[in-house]
Amino acid sequence: MELALKKLRLLMGEKAIITDPQALQTAAQATFGTSQKIQMIWRPAAREQVQWCVKVAHQHKIPLYPVSGGKNWGFGSSVPVQDQCVLLDLSRVNQITAYDEKLAYVTVEPGVTFRQIYQFLKGEKSALMLSIPGTSPDASVIGNALERGHGLGPYADRFAYVCGLEVVLPNGEIIHTGFGRFPHARTTPLARWGVGPMLDGLFSQSNLGIITQMTVWLSPIPKYLQLCYMGLNDSARFPALVDALQQLKLEGVIAQTPILWNDLKQLAIVQQYPWAKTAETPLPLPILDNLKKLHEVYTWQGWIGMGAASAQIGEAERLLLGERLAEWTDLLFFLDENEAYTVKGNPGKKVRQYQGVIKQGPFVGEPVANTMGSIYWRKTKSRPAQMHLDRDGCGLISLALAIPFTGADAEKATSLISRTVQAACFEPHISLIGITEREIDLAIFIVYDREVAGEDDRAMACYHTLQTHLDQAGYVLNRLGIQAMDSLPPAQDDYIKTIQRLKQAFDPHDILAPGRYDFRGQWSE
Ligand SMILES: Cc1cc2nc3c(=O)[nH]c(=O)nc-3n(C[C@H](O)[C@H](O)[C@H](O)COP(=O)(O)OP(=O)(O)OC[C@H]3O[C@@H](n4cnc5c(N)ncnc54)[C@H](O)[C@@H]3O)c2cc1C
Repeated sequence: MELALKKLRLLMGEKAIITDPQALQTAAQATFGTSQKIQMIWRPAAREQVQWCVKVAHQHKIPLYPVSGGKNWGFGSSVPVQDQCVLLDLSRVNQITAYDEKLAYVTVEPGVTFRQIYQFLKGEKSALMLSIPGTSPDASVIGNALERGHGLGPYADRFAYVCGLEVVLPNGEIIHTGFGRFPHARTTPLARWGVGPMLDGLFSQSNLGIITQMTVWLSPIPKYLQLCYMGLNDSARFPALVDALQQLKLEGVIAQTPILWNDLKQLAIVQQYPWAKTAETPLPLPILDNLKKLHEVYTWQGWIGMGAASAQIGEAERLLLGERLAEWTDLLFFLDENEAYTVKGNPGKKVRQYQGVIKQGPFVGEPVANTMGSIYWRKTKSRPAQMHLDRDGCGLISLALAIPFTGADAEKATSLISRTVQAACFEPHISLIGITEREIDLAIFIVYDREVAGEDDRAMACYHTLQTHLDQAGYVLNRLGIQAMDSLPPAQDDYIKTIQRLKQAFDPHDILAPGRYDFRGQWSE
């Protein structure tokens, strides 16, 4: 290690290597209990420095764990899967290296955040936007894409709208995916498939390479935008509402992503746990009912951002959605920049509340931090102005899974989740995102207070029980926390053997993010 550090100090300077115990301890904190220690933090400042770091690590057999934004909250934050890794913090490698307004893309380095792209596009007076997730504006676009995260807008399924990856392999070699291996190719940022075997997928949810550059596609800011708001209290109509949304998406009437949240998720945005009213957990039903009335929260609430090329097209879509959704909702209204159009129920305060998001906010690519407050739900102290989930002891364990886009599956999965999480005395925060016309991405937050003795263990036990129940019902996770890398059911084929072979071929010294999505618990000797 001493020899390796000597080399790196020469190459990157003293400040790029952090050994301060306090900084190491902070970086090893997640939103749930972990025991992994971080040996050191390396902070390269440019892409070629990333390559130096990897070459040195490969030569001296030092395990590296790359993070770009480190905001992987609910899945492990910046904590490595295995103990005693060096954290390779890529947040300083943060240039936007290309931008094209006509062909609608930006090419970015790992440290580039959602906020940075929004500000950059604003500075360019661009007519384009990036799909925005509900997490911190300071999360990394590359980090989110590599985890196959999702956002709002027509390009919500993030990894489906990226290409041209630059990858540092665990031995320090570099490859470019798609057409990127040809220096003269004019379609590197435009065409996903390139020519020959397509390698991009090998580097998302994996530990086979470090991405130092990626092209991300942008979509036009809609010429005419309206928001469709849906509220439903009668759970019996929930499956029919989901089916109606799927049909509209399949027909192409809904180009963006319909979103549905359960009452507890919405309530946690508006306020923290009502400790003054009860010390009991999970939240007693009569108190929940009162709070729902007070804050106009529905059992299910949903939003669809609807972009159209003109107000006339928008009006036609509004009429169609109104007809198709009214029967399955208790409140249904639409809002554009100037007016509210109520189809059913009384929108009350909501018109004023949502009017602002048409011109600014996540539906037009502006990242906002307002959902982060919901993770302070069980805290007894109020939310600070500067929220920091790891530092503030906010407990969060997330489960992400893919389910079929049918009302029956949405009903079955959400009932199972609610029963299991409430039996463990927590409140499930559930969101459903109609990510494609066939699949829903379902996100579950188990939210708790890490400062309460024993809660880390209780929440983790709840997580494991829930995962088992979901597996048994045929709903397999599609994104894993660091605690869950070896928790998937066994493969029925030679998938694991193939992953093992790939890992050993790409990374013979096992230096890159050991244990991350390589399912080594099932490897053969
Ligand atoms: C309230 C709340 C709302 C959220 N909403 C959303 C949402 O709407 N959509 C969503 O997708 N997620 C959401 N999340 C989860 C999470 O915060 C985001 O996915 C976030 O984008 C991940 O953090 P990051 O972008 O900083 O990625 P990072 O932490 O940098 O990266 C994630 C992981 O990818 C790997 N990695 C990162 N960079 C590289 C690289 N260059 N090369 C190789 N491997 C790398 C690392 O293993 C790392 O741990 C939410 C979380 C909370 C608490």
